[in-house]
Amino acid sequence: MARVALVTGGTRGIGAAISQALKKAGYTVAANYGGNDEAANTFKNKTGIPVYKFDVGDASACETSIRKIEADLGPIEILVNNAGITRDGMFHRMTFEQWSAVIRTNLDSMFACTRPVIEGMRERGFGRIVIISSINGQKGQMGQSNYSAAKAGVVGFAKALAQENAAKGVTVNVIAPGYIATEMVQAVPEEVLKTKILPLIPVGRLGEADEVARGVVYLASDEAGFITGSTLSMNGGQYMV
Ligand code: NDP
Repeated sequence: MARVALVTGGTRGIGAAISQALKKAGYTVAANYGGNDEAANTFKNKTGIPVYKFDVGDASACETSIRKIEADLGPIEILVNNAGITRDGMFHRMTFEQWSAVIRTNLDSMFACTRPVIEGMRERGFGRIVIISSINGQKGQMGQSNYSAAKAGVVGFAKALAQENAAKGVTVNVIAPGYIATEMVQAVPEEVLKTKILPLIPVGRLGEADEVARGVVYLASDEAGFITGSTLSMNGGQYMV
């Protein structure tokens, strides 16, 4: 039977590419989303991938929804913690709401979405957890102290979880993308892109969501069992750790 994969924030942007790549690779995929029903329904109709609406920062909603997904599709063997938001602002002007919204969705979600699946993975002796961090968690980014903190935090989480679960066949890895050509980045004016962003990227272009997705498919595969606790930077050479 095909392994079941859950992709959080799997209906738009990078997550949508990950959901589709995993489906193409033969997995049974469930795609989570937070609130945009229209985008989720369009995605579902286009791909045939079932969608599940719940807030990844709400531990009790995650527990309930993950049990429902497992009842519908089978035990989750691959978890992609991808959902994330930004609420940018210089720290000296940042509100606690901006801070906590980002920590909740990007970091509390690691507990909320992973805790309900980890015991089953350990019992079955197999699991793949892939977390989408960001270059800005590695190098820090002005105006994103909240986001940089959360995205660095997930790396520590992954390393600890990797150690706890290595002997049980469960791997935990991180992908840290740089500038990816999603709707958000494509909305940046062409002039700003050419003069301010592309010169920072030695490869000379934005990354594609499909490139991140291919990384996830590899880390999720049975063949990637010797890779755990690692961070794969996918940033066109912009920042080399
Ligand atoms: P998008 O904004 O395009 O999509 C975000 C997805 O996450 C949507 O499906 C959204 O659901 C979902 N989501 C947001 N908040 C919640 C929530 N509280 N509960 C459940 N689902 C939620 O994001 P990107 O594709 O740009 O980013 C995906 C990941 O990659 C993020 O973690 C981001 O930080 C990271 N990243 C992105 C980069 C980029 O260049 N785009 C670069 C580096 C890292 P809904 O549609 O309902 O809102």
